[in-house]
Amino acid sequence: MFAVTQLTWIVLKTYIKDLPKVHKISITSIFSVLVLFILFSSEKPEASIHTEALELSIGERYELPIKVDAEDLTALQSETEQPEWKSIKVRNGDNLAKIFDREGLTPQEVYKVSKAGKDAKKLLKMKPGEELRILKEADNTFSALAYAYSPTETLFINKNSEQKFLSSIEEKQIHTRLGYAQGEIQNSFWNAGVKSGMTEAQIMNLAGIFGWDIDFALEIRKGDNFNVVYEEQFIDGEFIGYGDIVAAEFTNQGEEFTAIRYKDGRYYTPEGRSMRKSFLRAPVSFTRISDNFNPRRFHPVQKRYKPHRGVDYAARRGTPVMAAGDGKVIKAGYDKYNGHHVFLQHGEKYVTKYIHFTKRLVKRGQSVKQGDIIGTVGSTGLASGPHLHYEFLVDGVHRNPRTVKLPKAEPIDKKELASFQNIAQNYLDKLNNNKRIMLAMNSSESSSLASE
Ligand SMILES: [Zn+2]
Repeated sequence: MFAVTQLTWIVLKTYIKDLPKVHKISITSIFSVLVLFILFSSEKPEASIHTEALELSIGERYELPIKVDAEDLTALQSETEQPEWKSIKVRNGDNLAKIFDREGLTPQEVYKVSKAGKDAKKLLKMKPGEELRILKEADNTFSALAYAYSPTETLFINKNSEQKFLSSIEEKQIHTRLGYAQGEIQNSFWNAGVKSGMTEAQIMNLAGIFGWDIDFALEIRKGDNFNVVYEEQFIDGEFIGYGDIVAAEFTNQGEEFTAIRYKDGRYYTPEGRSMRKSFLRAPVSFTRISDNFNPRRFHPVQKRYKPHRGVDYAARRGTPVMAAGDGKVIKAGYDKYNGHHVFLQHGEKYVTKYIHFTKRLVKRGQSVKQGDIIGTVGSTGLASGPHLHYEFLVDGVHRNPRTVKLPKAEPIDKKELASFQNIAQNYLDKLNNNKRIMLAMNSSESSSLASE
């Protein structure tokens, strides 16, 4: 037993070495309590323990002699002879009857299990690859069944002493911890995101959060940087996945943007204005753009620079193009200059134009929502290579869609403001802390490099 305890100590010490100090202290103290609990709760009062050695201090290793007597040993042996749960993988085309048959259980038992309360219906939805655990009595009859039908919920069916079958559901709680990522862009936002340890989904989400302020397709530059706080979810101490990004900063060409997630699931500036705005900065996902840093302002066909009235997004043929804002299709057609094209009207003032599609996916008169796919990138009309030509007009005048001033975003509901500001301040502190820690780590890294 202490071999195990010691080993765990060593493993734990190596593990907590890499954690921030606050975590170290809390983990170490929790663990110390746990060790004490394990050592003492499992011992009989008469077991000989050198109590004088029990002034435990953090980070120390202790040897506690434990006397195992014959009685304990027999108890241990009889324990191992008890029936054990058997784990069964659900196969293609399986149902409870087939599984029970393979396990040598009777159709009668199948029937009783399936009638053990309404929760037992969960067993009808078993999917191949899932796990079922079955416990049998010593005489090989059914004793209990466990089916974890979700990461947090397990159905139990037990036979009680009166041979009655009962079902119950055990719910596990998800514990959330915060994770941090930070990066500076060298050649692409995607690469910097991967290098910072974010998952692909998190990188996409981050771009989504700032997609109304920053054109991730064409306006990202070397030196742009980001700082992200996100949730990590655990069940029984085991990592099960990532939750939402709860706070993020992005500096684009010197301009800083900050977003905080509120409990309504939306993102707001620290002042409480929605990040969501009436127009997306780019109508194409940045992941589809051929060259992040080299926007083609050169007209591909006319071979000369001309006062360009729009933005060209070079992307693979077939790349989906989104409506930049809610609006109405005022034109969807074909001509020899624009090829297949779609024009949208947004309220009174704004018109957006999307040109050189391979395929139009909307019709004239149709209403569209921001983000709806209205067509796919192509090279129809006067274009030598596939690209989206995008124009943005305010009161009939062409504007640069990536810099044009747009109506201010909706503020958060007044009733929510105080509560939001509390949360926002808390996350802003976390963002700043993270920045400081990273700065300190980077500087200690470079100084240790310098001294080598
Ligand atoms: Zn163009």
